[in-house]
Amino acid sequence: MKINCIGSGSSGNCYHITDGDTEILIECGFNFKKIQQALNYQLKNIAACLISHRHSDHIKGLKEVMNYGINCYIGEIEKQELIEIDKRYNNFRLKGIQPLEHFRIGTFTILPFDVQHDTGQPLGYLIQSDNGDKLLFATDTYYIKYTFTGLTHLLIECNNSIEILNRNVETGVLNHSLKKRIRKSHFSLENLIDFINDCDLSRLKETYLIHLSDSNSDEALFKKSIQRITGRPVYVF
Ligand SMILES: [Zn+2]
Ligand SMILES: [Zn+2]
Repeated sequence: MKINCIGSGSSGNCYHITDGDTEILIECGFNFKKIQQALNYQLKNIAACLISHRHSDHIKGLKEVMNYGINCYIGEIEKQELIEIDKRYNNFRLKGIQPLEHFRIGTFTILPFDVQHDTGQPLGYLIQSDNGDKLLFATDTYYIKYTFTGLTHLLIECNNSIEILNRNVETGVLNHSLKKRIRKSHFSLENLIDFINDCDLSRLKETYLIHLSDSNSDEALFKKSIQRITGRPVYVF
């Protein structure tokens, strides 16, 4: 599985994934021009775009991606929420899906699953290639209620650490209600460690940490902590 990051964080999210056979995007949170440039204008083989939820840092380029002819997948409830905001999302290229109902895209079998965020039906994705690789993607979730076996790649949010959040409240960098919102919408290092410890890591090859907060994260600490518990390379996007 090859994972390429076009951008990760509150200014925009977009990832390009391929198993050498099928190519997909996860998220399209930049304007289409930037996505095209990042991919050297090689988009004709992109078979789908999977979307976690409707916040603009994940869907900014969605209309243009659909107009280009790429099928985009999002939770059915989120699709309806988008149409309510803007009728142009009522497009046959936007596929409303349900958690735990798997579907095929080329050589990938994709299982969406529900995550915990502050929109109608946020999803994570388990992406299994016919070549045996198994990628777990999850972002913008403060908790994951499922555990997984046989994962080979993790592409997962590590937004903040509870310790840093507390320190930032003490020093006045962060106010209390914002801290509460973050704790109920984004994955902390501490919750990520609990989640990883509950998963079967026997086949894990590598981990990519995504969606780090600008002011509530510590890249070096996060990398070191996750590397220690997985025993495999960790990259920070
Ligand atoms: Zn969000
Ligand atoms: Zn986000």
